[in-house]
Amino acid sequence: MSALLVTDLHTHSTASDGTDRPAELVAKAAAAGIDVLAITDHDTTGGWAEALEHRPPALTVITGAEFSCVYVDDERRISLHLLGYLFDPDDANLQAERARLRDDRRGRAHLMVDNMVADGLPISWEQVSALAAGGAVGRPHLARALVTAGVVPDIDSAFRDVLSSRGGYYVRKSDTDVFAAIAMLRAAGGLPVFAHPLARRRGPVVSDAVVARMAAAGLVGLEVEHPDQDPADRAQAAGLARDLGLIGTGSSDYHGTNKTTGLAACTTAPAALEALLALPAALRPVGPLDPDGRPR
Ligand code: AMP
Ligand code: FE
Ligand code: FE
Ligand code: ZN
Repeated sequence: MSALLVTDLHTHSTASDGTDRPAELVAKAAAAGIDVLAITDHDTTGGWAEALEHRPPALTVITGAEFSCVYVDDERRISLHLLGYLFDPDDANLQAERARLRDDRRGRAHLMVDNMVADGLPISWEQVSALAAGGAVGRPHLARALVTAGVVPDIDSAFRDVLSSRGGYYVRKSDTDVFAAIAMLRAAGGLPVFAHPLARRRGPVVSDAVVARMAAAGLVGLEVEHPDQDPADRAQAAGLARDLGLIGTGSSDYHGTNKTTGLAACTTAPAALEALLALPAALRPVGPLDPDGRPR
């Protein structure tokens, strides 16, 4: 396989909290020299059709989504994200769960707006809802509303000073138990990969023992190269992947102008892509790459 294949396995569009339409996302990916791009909006497949319809001929698209999950034990509740690739979008259980998560996102964002409005912050649900444009609503939409209203100078300050999970306006989402999510994804023919497993700056992370349990439950990979993981975290994730027989992936987690990270800021090695695509899944990548991950 070509050593030059550039693969980015985690990106967001306007179907969730990215700022590029799916058509723009695939165009920008091709222009940025990406060969293989996964579209992984939060809790939705809503961007797939447009991305595939506007796919530049040289680009391979892997359909996916990022699922908001939670790990719960006696003492703690840790939120974590699961990327699911190439699952059957019509699988009834997974489809119902995505709808539940999106409804919960709307209700929760509305409550957060209510909390902020009650405190005199000049934003509105109408404004936030318009920013989300019918897609999965997330805190980045609240952040943009706060920047537009002049409450904070930029998105980063919005997260730090207003929207933090430790702040007074925060409302928790009702996420999927991570073991249930892994089982649901596998049952739908999907390939679950643990997104940014050691991104400590986002909050508490799960222990190696929990990752081992996730692997036993059907997880196939760990996101090793990710902008929110520093070199020590990446080394630990790579070691864990090796020990547990998981595929180590890399990706940008691009969100357009909602984040400063560019497309392909981190990438997946060709051998890891080949290993991922060698696994049986409900769908195959769309585009010039062979189904086994080799260029035609
Ligand atoms: P939510 O899923 O609604 O709780 O919002 C979390 C989303 O906000 C994730 O997609 C993150 O990528 C994004 N996010 C978290 N912190 C920041 C930040 N400082 N700047 C921009 N986006 C962020
Ligand atoms: Fe996001
Ligand atoms: Fe994530
Ligand atoms: Zn993401």
